[in-house]
Amino acid sequence: MKMCKKYFKYKKKSIHSITYKNMTEIIDNEFIKLLKCNNCNSNIHENKYNILCTKCNKNFVQNNLLCFIDNLDKKDNLTEEDRNFIQESEKHIQGISANDWNNEDEWKSIDNRAELRMRKVLKYINNEGIHLDIGIGRGDGTALIAKRKKTIGVEYGTLVAQIAKTNYKNVIQANASELPFKDNMFTSITMLDSLEHILNPKQALKEVFRVLKNDGKLIIQTPTKEDFKIKKLGVILNKPYVLFELILKVLLSPKIYLNKYKNRKTNKSKAPQPIEIPRTREYVKKIISENFNIEKNRLINYWNKYKIIQLFSYSSLFICKKK
Ligand SMILES: [Zn+2]
Repeated sequence: MKMCKKYFKYKKKSIHSITYKNMTEIIDNEFIKLLKCNNCNSNIHENKYNILCTKCNKNFVQNNLLCFIDNLDKKDNLTEEDRNFIQESEKHIQGISANDWNNEDEWKSIDNRAELRMRKVLKYINNEGIHLDIGIGRGDGTALIAKRKKTIGVEYGTLVAQIAKTNYKNVIQANASELPFKDNMFTSITMLDSLEHILNPKQALKEVFRVLKNDGKLIIQTPTKEDFKIKKLGVILNKPYVLFELILKVLLSPKIYLNKYKNRKTNKSKAPQPIEIPRTREYVKKIISENFNIEKNRLINYWNKYKIIQLFSYSSLFICKKK
């Protein structure tokens, strides 16, 4: 109940109106002890105005968020190749504007999908300990997990992390390939629609292995190449229905339809596109090579606007344990 109240309290605030009076509003106290400094690996503590490293005094509060991503200028030991790699990653997530992240029409379908997906994922998450959700996007799914157990969310994008914070409080900004947590901290970890957006999935899986408890569970949900092929078939089968709907709309209310069409064109929104979608067996290989056993490999149905596409919209679910 307490968690529910908090959830609604944060839901009401817009991202521009958040100002924090003290550090406990940035993150619940109990999560600070899980964190480590990404500069010197030391513990982190809070004082009245900041959350700092106990050894090197680095301050992690940025834009009302706990941020563990270093500015590229501060990293002087990077090769040119690494630098380009990171810049590419920045463009991928940071390149999406606040307008896009706030476009309710665009995200409503995705949020609904998150809820439907979560119903299928939650049964694999045990109740004990602390949960880590990686690549949380707008945080709708994270808020649902947090109703069940103590949860911390990680997001890379600055703007979307701030939006996520309006949905769920305990969000930190960090890179999945450099998780700012101590070893063996979590009883369960989810990566839902996130592995395909990570520039270095191998390194991210290594980090997940490090922070997951030995008997913990890793739940990966991601589209594979095969899943996308099936979805494409659904889109083709759906075409006559879309055409029929379009003709009906234009005939019944041409003016309303035209206005809607104009608005849609000017407000066209974008969501981050996946970096790489491997085949299922390539995913399996990748996961196993990082010392995980795959206990279950299931297909779960996705939510989609059109009924026929719904039938063909699948995504793969991998339930994994440490070897
Ligand atoms: Zn430090």
